Amino acid sequence: MQALERTLDYATAPLFIAASIAATRVLQVMHVEGWLWTALVLGPLFVLAAAIERVRPEREEYLRLDQPLATEAAHFLLNYQLGYALSLGALALVRAWMQAHVNASMWPVAWPLAVQVVIAVGLSEGAGYWQHRLFHRIPSLWRFHELHHSGGRLNVSRSLRFHGVDIGAGTFLSVLPLVLLRAPEDIVLWVVVLSGALGIVQHANMRMRTPAWLDRFFCTPAVHRHHHSRNVSESNRNFGTTVMLFDVLFGSYEPPKAEGPAAMGIEGDTMPRGFWKQVVRPFQR
Ligand SMILES: [Zn+2]
Repeated sequence: MQALERTLDYATAPLFIAASIAATRVLQVMHVEGWLWTALVLGPLFVLAAAIERVRPEREEYLRLDQPLATEAAHFLLNYQLGYALSLGALALVRAWMQAHVNASMWPVAWPLAVQVVIAVGLSEGAGYWQHRLFHRIPSLWRFHELHHSGGRLNVSRSLRFHGVDIGAGTFLSVLPLVLLRAPEDIVLWVVVLSGALGIVQHANMRMRTPAWLDRFFCTPAVHRHHHSRNVSESNRNFGTTVMLFDVLFGSYEPPKAEGPAAMGIEGDTMPRGFWKQVVRPFQR
């Protein structure tokens, strides 16, 4: 029984990532409309993670939501989606401009799909890393990112709770290098789906273990839990969300503790209760 538990501990995160890769490939081969990819892959993965949290939680006390379900749902359906849609609209404008004014594509379309995806993830992470780091560093930007760190119970619901300005800026900046290099839409979708799947795994309160040597290369659940620590010297580390290359390069990488942070959230959290108060708060100070 103990061997089975241990196998499940180590297999959960890789199986989630493998499932997202397999499902994305199936949608690509079937030529399913691009705008359906995120919903079709990430929707079931989210439900599965929420179910596994009930059966094998990392921390029992994190099972409850930080705030009413209606508030969390409103953040995803209104706040997150508005920022996401606006950033996609802006990216579509950039793409149209590039098509009209730049003839040559710099993207290596003839290279194997896996190589193209790896390059795209690296480029996207380079921009996303700085967006995330600056949203922690600059007080006026932190007010938008604060919503994502607020609340003490890290579980899968947190992968959906972002301020629209935060997710909008993050999506726009991390996809922009790909659009500027005229990467095919499929490749952009691969990056969006894979980072979404990783987001679900990283925030889920599922019992998961990954080998410690992996932490320096990928944003494992342990690495991202470290970033959600209540101790600010720990949460000001590990800004990467897919690979840790930029944290290692720019000196912000810190190996996570095996037992995870003592507490998560924000010390002296002053987030008001209620959806609208949380949405307007960053604009008010
Ligand atoms: Zn953060």
